Amino acid sequence: MQTNPWRRVEELDDVDRERVANIIQSRIGRYRNRTTADEWDSLSADDIDLYRPLKVEGQLYPLVFYCENKDCRKVHTATEPGYLPSDGQCRACGESITQLPFVNVCPCGRLEDPGPDTGCGAHGFDDIRLNKRASEPAMWRYECGECGDTIDVLSSSCGVCNDMKGPLPTASSRIFYSEKAVEVDIPYLSDEADDIPNDKAWAHVLMAAHLGIADLESDTLESLATTEGKLDKYQKWVDKLGEEQAKEMFDDMDQNIHGRETLVADTKHITPPDTTEDVDEGTRALAYSNIAHQLFTFQRSTKGYEGDLEALEDTRHPIPKSLNQFLNDPEFRERHPQSGRYRPQLTESHIRQAWIVDQFPLLNILYGYTRADSQSNNADLRSFPHPRERATTPIFADRTPSEAIIFEIDRTAIINWLQANGVISADERPDTSDEAALKEWFLNNIATTELDNPFSPIEDDVTRWVYRLLIRL
Ligand SMILES: [Zn+2]
Ligand SMILES: [Zn+2]
Ligand SMILES: [Zn+2]
Repeated sequence: MQTNPWRRVEELDDVDRERVANIIQSRIGRYRNRTTADEWDSLSADDIDLYRPLKVEGQLYPLVFYCENKDCRKVHTATEPGYLPSDGQCRACGESITQLPFVNVCPCGRLEDPGPDTGCGAHGFDDIRLNKRASEPAMWRYECGECGDTIDVLSSSCGVCNDMKGPLPTASSRIFYSEKAVEVDIPYLSDEADDIPNDKAWAHVLMAAHLGIADLESDTLESLATTEGKLDKYQKWVDKLGEEQAKEMFDDMDQNIHGRETLVADTKHITPPDTTEDVDEGTRALAYSNIAHQLFTFQRSTKGYEGDLEALEDTRHPIPKSLNQFLNDPEFRERHPQSGRYRPQLTESHIRQAWIVDQFPLLNILYGYTRADSQSNNADLRSFPHPRERATTPIFADRTPSEAIIFEIDRTAIINWLQANGVISADERPDTSDEAALKEWFLNNIATTELDNPFSPIEDDVTRWVYRLLIRL
């Protein structure tokens, strides 16, 4: 069997295409891509279409059959199932025919059926028989029924890379590897979601929220980011009228002093290592996109939505419950007596806080496939046929709500460990008694773009050490 191109699909229009293109782009280096580099190397958000598959259909493959009668072994091939004997009987002797369940695959993605590629020099494809007396399918031969000449074997060759593997049984896992990624995908909750600013400004708004500078009592992250903010003008009026009067005036005019520009200004001094001047523009853009995505995910998966809870209905927004909430519930403590040990155990592992998150939204992304070799650096990434036959690259995606447990590692413990291992000196330590200074230090010292590709070494020193520590936890 072979699946047909996925024509029954629906377009996904509420997914951040920029982000999906970034994710795919960050993985391209894993593949050999000897024959497919052109398509992937320059992939941007405009080059992809996102679809959710609705129905998958299959068809008979490979279309190579042979007669079960040992004395006949006539080969029947066709380009479409309808051209095979419809009664399933050999055209020469009338006995049953059976499928030759092998294929040949190449690391460039080419797939060939096991049928004869050439006919007999004298008799063409008129009467081909399968000689399967050898035990290994690789040794089986096609012979001409008229003159007995050997014509071909089951394996094929690839004109491009000369590296075809086969014949492989059709059940072999080497025939098809799906290439996919999983991403957290929390939707923005706002009528102005389209006005969320570029990743750099958005990242700074989220940094401000992360550090506790942003006021989330009366505003949401989305509203802070989409409101310009009037702090400069406000300050001018404070100087003229005094704080109380100025505030009243701005309130009367319904002008929000809090907003994007204020928060960007408040966090301007924070410069993650991969956003500095000497970094190329693409990496810088990716760094801001990563930071925004990670901070938004952390904020909403630990603190939940700041706005009106009614807005959460029918959304795929995460609903976190902190471990403390459970531990402070006498009923929970009684039902789970062992829960008394949770807190000391977590503290011992330097875990500061934990959340159980309901409705944690994941987006599964299927962007292509490889063949013949399970090591992606030996294979070419191929894209799927486009369901609407456009020139863009189709990406298939599906959402699954999931449950998650989120741990917040004690930042001070990481700093202590970095110092104990000589990665940072005593002078380079942030003030660990100041929560905001600690958080700022991590924003300023972790190169998120270096964590995107697990196959390339992490060059930034601190990032590498922190990563090593965290994967060992
Ligand atoms: Zn036959
Ligand atoms: Zn012949
Ligand atoms: Zn090839």
